[in-house]
Amino acid sequence: EIVFEMNQVKKIYKMGDVDVKALDGISFKIKKGEFVIIMGPSGSGKSTTLHIMGCLDKPTSGNVYIDGVDVSKLNDKSLAKIRGEKIGFVFQQFNLLPRLTALENVELPMMYKGVPLKKRRKRAKELLELVGLGDRINHKPTQLSGGQMQRVAIARALANEPSYILADEPTGNLDSKSGEDILEIFKRLNKDGMTVVIVTHDPELELLGNHVIFLRDGKIQEERYL
Ligand code: ADP
Ligand code: ADP
Repeated sequence: EIVFEMNQVKKIYKMGDVDVKALDGISFKIKKGEFVIIMGPSGSGKSTTLHIMGCLDKPTSGNVYIDGVDVSKLNDKSLAKIRGEKIGFVFQQFNLLPRLTALENVELPMMYKGVPLKKRRKRAKELLELVGLGDRINHKPTQLSGGQMQRVAIARALANEPSYILADEPTGNLDSKSGEDILEIFKRLNKDGMTVVIVTHDPELELLGNHVIFLRDGKIQEERYL
């Protein structure tokens, strides 16, 4: 079962009269249950790939399929809908809302989707327990450590049962112990069947994946299955 596919994707940014080719014909497939690491040096096209996988941007040419649906030509409104329903985001900077509690942060994507209060509150609690934060549900982000904030973010990413988790340098702002704990959570989620995609410049994360994609100069330099 293919959850994501890029087919001959090119992305060109216009800078005045200069064309910057960020992606130069990228094709890959991600199957359900894979743990994917997308790696490459600065400028290789990681952020551009992440934005396209997250329905935050569209390719200049080529096709992008999420659960078999071609999203490469959808308008912004349709893309936003798919983003909210199919993709669980985890960011380097956590991106939690500071005025909301951990519980409310996790509830938010379900609220946007129209899940009734009681149901979403119950699920948010369960998800926070799943990431080991059952005793912190009423804490605000400032009352939590970086590792705890990232765990709230993971719980939030899971809220709407996404097709895949898309994590952008998820350990980039954490000390090494907290970073390892976060990677353990991703491993456990993946073992339970969740498709996880981590985009990183950190070569140490390579060993985590069972499907590793190396980008260089907007092309796939190497693709490896472990
Ligand atoms: P990475 O995340 O691996 O550093 P990016 O996808 O950010 O790579 O960038 C790939 C190439 O596209 C780089 O040459 C970068 O300078 C260029 N680029 C990225 N975003 C933009 C943009 N918004 N406008 C112009 N050029 C961009
Ligand atoms: P970067 O790694 O490019 O410095 P971030 O990790 O904060 O930036 O986020 C990656 C991209 O996702 C950003 O370009 C931003 O536009 C987008 N983004 C950030 N927060 C959200 C959000 N809550 N929902 C959708 N897109 C977001």
